[in-house]
Amino acid sequence: MPNLRELYQELILEHSKHPRNYRVLEGATHTVEGFNPLCGDHFTIYLETDGEVIRNITFQGSGCAISKSSASVMTQVLKGKTKAEAENLFHRFHDLVTGKARDNSVEALGKLAVFSGVSEFPVRVKCATLAWHALHEALAGKSAGVTTE
Ligand code: ZN
Repeated sequence: MPNLRELYQELILEHSKHPRNYRVLEGATHTVEGFNPLCGDHFTIYLETDGEVIRNITFQGSGCAISKSSASVMTQVLKGKTKAEAENLFHRFHDLVTGKARDNSVEALGKLAVFSGVSEFPVRVKCATLAWHALHEALAGKSAGVTTE
């Protein structure tokens, strides 16, 4: 049986090479930039909401494999979710990568669980959560942009 860690690694690399929803979103209702000066990750998150629902979400920018794949998986997971569900996932994802998640909640995170290994590398936490912080700003109705410093 292949090592779970290797599978995770593969999925992260695959998403960083072929990011999903990687484009400017025409008709975006929210656009927020996220910048992580520690690593140089710089992304723009585009969000189209309809009432409480995230109808579409895309991103563009550049960064390391962790930050890019995290943004890619995030857009896949959040499309069609409500704002409240997205906020909830943001907090659970943050717990996951900072090593605070309980085992049973990791399983419920599905695809996002591939980033659980990040908790062993504290400097990478900012990479993994950058897109999520930008999303959080966007959902709060802010557009000034976020920086992890
Ligand atoms: Zn990074």
